[in-house]
Amino acid sequence: MDAQKARRDSLLQRNMLLSMRLDNGQSSQVAGSGAKKVLNVARGGANGVSKTWRMSHSPQRAVSKLSSPPKASWNKPSATRKTGTERSLKPSPIHSKPSVKQPPFLGIKSLSLDDFDIGKKLGKGKFGRVYCVKHKKTGFICAMKAMEKSELVQYNVQKQFRREVEIQSSLSHPNLTKLYGFFHDDKRVYLLMEYLVNGELYKVLKARGPFNDIVASHYVYQMADALDFMHQKNIIHRDVKPENILMGFGNVVKLTDFGWSIISARGVRRKTLCGTIDYLSPELITSREYDDKVDVWALGVLTYELIVNSPPFEEDSKDSTYKRIVSGDLKFPDTISSDAQDLIRKLLRHKAKDRISLQDVKRHPWILKHKSFW
Ligand code: ATP
Ligand code: MG
Repeated sequence: MDAQKARRDSLLQRNMLLSMRLDNGQSSQVAGSGAKKVLNVARGGANGVSKTWRMSHSPQRAVSKLSSPPKASWNKPSATRKTGTERSLKPSPIHSKPSVKQPPFLGIKSLSLDDFDIGKKLGKGKFGRVYCVKHKKTGFICAMKAMEKSELVQYNVQKQFRREVEIQSSLSHPNLTKLYGFFHDDKRVYLLMEYLVNGELYKVLKARGPFNDIVASHYVYQMADALDFMHQKNIIHRDVKPENILMGFGNVVKLTDFGWSIISARGVRRKTLCGTIDYLSPELITSREYDDKVDVWALGVLTYELIVNSPPFEEDSKDSTYKRIVSGDLKFPDTISSDAQDLIRKLLRHKAKDRISLQDVKRHPWILKHKSFW
């Protein structure tokens, strides 16, 4: 792992712990009483008594959780119980841009690890390993993330994990990594995701970056479209950065890692500190209330990083980075085109309400000028 990534990761860990602490108290209207039930897994799972690891997959249900707890249960000891996979693979009514090929095992009553051939390891996350797998019966290839239940419980991230699954499975957009569903056994939870063959954008950027304006504008357009789609569903991603963007064929990029995503009704402003230091907006750093404009800021940082190869406020210490972000100390190398600078300045406006809209990002001159070359 290179020094820059290690620095970003260690700072993220710090933010994570802080955020978990804050989230426990502040985001209860989203997870509602479900969080308490998730905790039961640890106890039930450990002593073999009934488990109630609850999981809702419909975004409408997720939204309705703002006022009521989820109804479905993973391990409900009942003869009529449906498996998690069965429920999670049902198409959701929120799918307004169905673009991702659905797996042919959609509709199969239940899945287990034995149904898959396990291929190469694609990577390792904080709480699990990701493998390329093939569904034996249908030959369908996808990515499988295996996570130890005990680790999720140990780090007390069940609520965050549950939210991640609910949100990711509810969204269908060509630039969002699709979560097809999940299943679990005594020890692990397995997430089945769309397989993105070319891995993390961050690694490609480090190996081949910086990108020229044609390539970068294509990626920025796709991310603007994905975020616009999420924001229309009242979902804030909160952790946009090249590490969380995966690459498919033909320069298609897909946002992933919905671990910090949150459903936040329009007009409701949030306070939980989360995200990665270089991508934090001024309002996040100064602990002010914020809304979906934090993603617009992060898109500005991303645009800069794609064409310069380092984020705009990067410094050795986090305090220096914070200071530069809050004071708006934005500098450009001479090589950056004036159109690109204009878009970045409009994305990185200090006041959230002054930032450019995602629709306007998609028709900004820097984008329109390069669109025909994509
Ligand atoms: P987290 O932040 O949730 O701990 P992470 O972002 O560190 O996790 P994961 O999302 O668990 O990492 O993925 C680990 C690695 O596996 C990624 O860096 C990526 O290279 C690879 N990977 C994850 N999902 C996919 C996918 N759907 N297709 C291809 N590769 C993937
Ligand atoms: Mg990640």
